[in-house]
Amino acid sequence: MNLFKRNHKVERKYIFINKLLGKNIWENLPCKSDKIIRKKNKEKALNESLRTNSPLIEKWYWPNGARSFFSFRADMDAGNEESLLSFLETIGPWSKSLSLFVCGKAYVEKKQLLQKVADLKAEVGNHTYTHYVFTGRDRNLINLELTEQLLASVNIKPLGYVGPASFFHTSMYDVLEEKGYDYTSSFGLAHDDYPFFPPKNAETYKMVEIPFHCLGDRFHKFGLELDSNDVRVFFEQLLEKKYHRCEPMFIYGHPDIPGRMGDHPDLVKHICEKALSYDDVCTGNMADIAAWWKRRHEATADIIYDRENDRVIAKNYHGSEDVYWSIQISEDCIYLVSGDDLQKGIPLEELKLYKKINLTATPYAAIGAIVESSPTKISLRTKIGNFRNKYRRNKRMIRELKLASLSLKKG
Ligand SMILES: [Zn+2]
Repeated sequence: MNLFKRNHKVERKYIFINKLLGKNIWENLPCKSDKIIRKKNKEKALNESLRTNSPLIEKWYWPNGARSFFSFRADMDAGNEESLLSFLETIGPWSKSLSLFVCGKAYVEKKQLLQKVADLKAEVGNHTYTHYVFTGRDRNLINLELTEQLLASVNIKPLGYVGPASFFHTSMYDVLEEKGYDYTSSFGLAHDDYPFFPPKNAETYKMVEIPFHCLGDRFHKFGLELDSNDVRVFFEQLLEKKYHRCEPMFIYGHPDIPGRMGDHPDLVKHICEKALSYDDVCTGNMADIAAWWKRRHEATADIIYDRENDRVIAKNYHGSEDVYWSIQISEDCIYLVSGDDLQKGIPLEELKLYKKINLTATPYAAIGAIVESSPTKISLRTKIGNFRNKYRRNKRMIRELKLASLSLKKG
């Protein structure tokens, strides 16, 4: 079965915030997640290695054996000047960890704001022109190029793409690949996961998909203020959990919508400070993550468990120095070693000399996770209504795109 097609549909998923807040926040996310399949495969591999008394050796997720990677994604959807300027000022000290994504139609008359964004020297990417994804290649091409033109006016060439809302279509990814984009990030495809190369028929795209945690700054819609203690504690616990699980700290928000992250500098500061309070968390923008994931992917070696001498050794090693490896010989912990160490050979009894990561007792395991809930029953009437809305939106977007491309050609 084509995994990509199966992943295609989204549905409302509820996310756990804390025990007292009965009302769970929802987001539209992919119906099926490959994360669960991957987790099961890993369990299988571990069981097999424990059964055969041989170590499980895998490529480590982050550069130089770091426990996690922190990156902040800011989707510029609305063009509100006051909020955006407040955000740019707040995020200044962390601009190396930041990628901003411009939705063209919100900035078409606001070149002076785009210039301020460019002056920050943070990474800037493409968030389409219409904040929509079409089902056809040609419209998606125009949708990207209109924003590329805007960005070119402030000397920015985007390398990355963030999908608007949970819209997703393979024709958009085909165009992105043709245009040479380095990475993508779409809630319609994945969220809250390690990076991966999205499947394309029997192969994969060359772009790295970077899935972010889906909860950013839409809390207000569910009766939770962004400056409330609940939201502050939620992010604290989410980051703590990510650290202990060695999962990515990929957090996003909106810098230019009134009432969102741009208007809450204390929260933004708190998130950045908390994430980087750990000394073995590395950081960078999304182009850095994509470059790292490609380096990691390219590392190859023949790794052998020499049972007689009870040691692990790598032959024919090709890989960047910052690629590390994990060695696991029991269920409760792993050890991280460098490629150099592996090539010299590591006696298993010396493993305790290397960096150890405990796998037991993850704090706040439920925070930010999807809550299992019975599927919501949708009446036929609602279904017809939804279909009609979708149809009308599509027509409206086609019209918008046409108008925008005409007026930009004239100008
Ligand atoms: Zn957006």
